[in-house]
Amino acid sequence: MTLMKSWVESANAVTTDFPLNNLPCGVFSTGDEQPRCGVAIGNFILDISALEAEGLLKLADEPLFDVPFWNELMEAGPEVWADLRAQVTAMLAAGASKRWIIEDHLVPLADATLHMPFLISEYTDFYAGRHHATNVGTMFRGAENALPPNWLHIPIGYNGRASSVVVSGTEVRRPWGQLKSPDMETPIFAPSQRFDIELEMGAIVGQPSELGYPVSVAEADAMIFGYVLLNDWSARDIQAWEYQPLGPFQAKATATSISPWIVMKAALEPFRAATPAREVPLLPHLQEPGPMLYNIALEVGLTPEGGTETVISRTNYAEMYYSAAQQLAHHTTSGCAMNVGDLLGSGTISGPTKESRGSLLELSWGGKEPFAIAGGTRSFIEDNDTLTLRGAALGDGYRIGFGTCTGKVIPALKDPWQRR
Ligand code: CA
Repeated sequence: MTLMKSWVESANAVTTDFPLNNLPCGVFSTGDEQPRCGVAIGNFILDISALEAEGLLKLADEPLFDVPFWNELMEAGPEVWADLRAQVTAMLAAGASKRWIIEDHLVPLADATLHMPFLISEYTDFYAGRHHATNVGTMFRGAENALPPNWLHIPIGYNGRASSVVVSGTEVRRPWGQLKSPDMETPIFAPSQRFDIELEMGAIVGQPSELGYPVSVAEADAMIFGYVLLNDWSARDIQAWEYQPLGPFQAKATATSISPWIVMKAALEPFRAATPAREVPLLPHLQEPGPMLYNIALEVGLTPEGGTETVISRTNYAEMYYSAAQQLAHHTTSGCAMNVGDLLGSGTISGPTKESRGSLLELSWGGKEPFAIAGGTRSFIEDNDTLTLRGAALGDGYRIGFGTCTGKVIPALKDPWQRR
């Protein structure tokens, strides 16, 4: 695939995240106006809600964009998703005949506030990156027992919280929790001292499955609407004390940040990549009929208050052992129904090298090996640090970018039960 040319000049730049090939879905507002649906193109947002209201975009008998979220479009199904892309591509392509009408509905990105792009039904987080699982397992249980016996057979996951999923730019407050290090007799209640990120991709379910019936991996792939960058903020000290026997709970419940643009699966098609070779064969219901991962370059930047950013990790989504389609298929094996707007976190995406680790826990090896940043070192996140995730599939002269997923960690409440 090569760059599709647009009359929006900034969409033709090699450096833009949002060429005509991308057309990611977001929700935005300007000034005091109500949030509405838009598609990013170069340095602009095309106001999809306004185009539909004026009859310039018609996808269904009933309006889909009179609400400030993309769930109704998702519910309408894959044919309508494709129709949206076809109609918007025709409007924005170089030489488009209605340019003079469409131009009125472009809003500069710089003037817009971005909001949550969809209503989240439920959120499930997985643990499907082999390098991450091996690193964490080695730290917690030793190299011999790094991967649990089930790990190579099922994508391990837990049901997370949809209520604390926030859009990029939202500040994240350092949580309090029960902590007990090995040298303590009894736990204490205190602000987390080992607050961390997890670099992940989020898959957004765009079509439901029926209660009582599992779906195949191919059906699961077809149900996915698109992908976002996802930061699963994690309090390692809370996690270490609480996680046995039922898995993470409060350690992961403070916040989960996502990037504001949903990159539709259709935009990622040219970048499909296979999962790595299987060490042991998967049972038939988890085998993939084709490549289900994507080649997406990822990086994490850390910026201290008033300082400059250091890129602390570079990795790729294709490092995952399990795809989102496999995770979604596994999620339904019990007969569990999946809904429009369900969000699946991939699990931390670490690569094989030290520089490609997707969490500070791994980068600092549990705090034992602090790593260098501009003007200092880090083991875990310090107050007022800003963490920024970036990602893009890299094409020939263009990139399918996700924008940024950023969050600043602000100090813990002085007294958690003292209302402001
Ligand atoms: Ca996670």
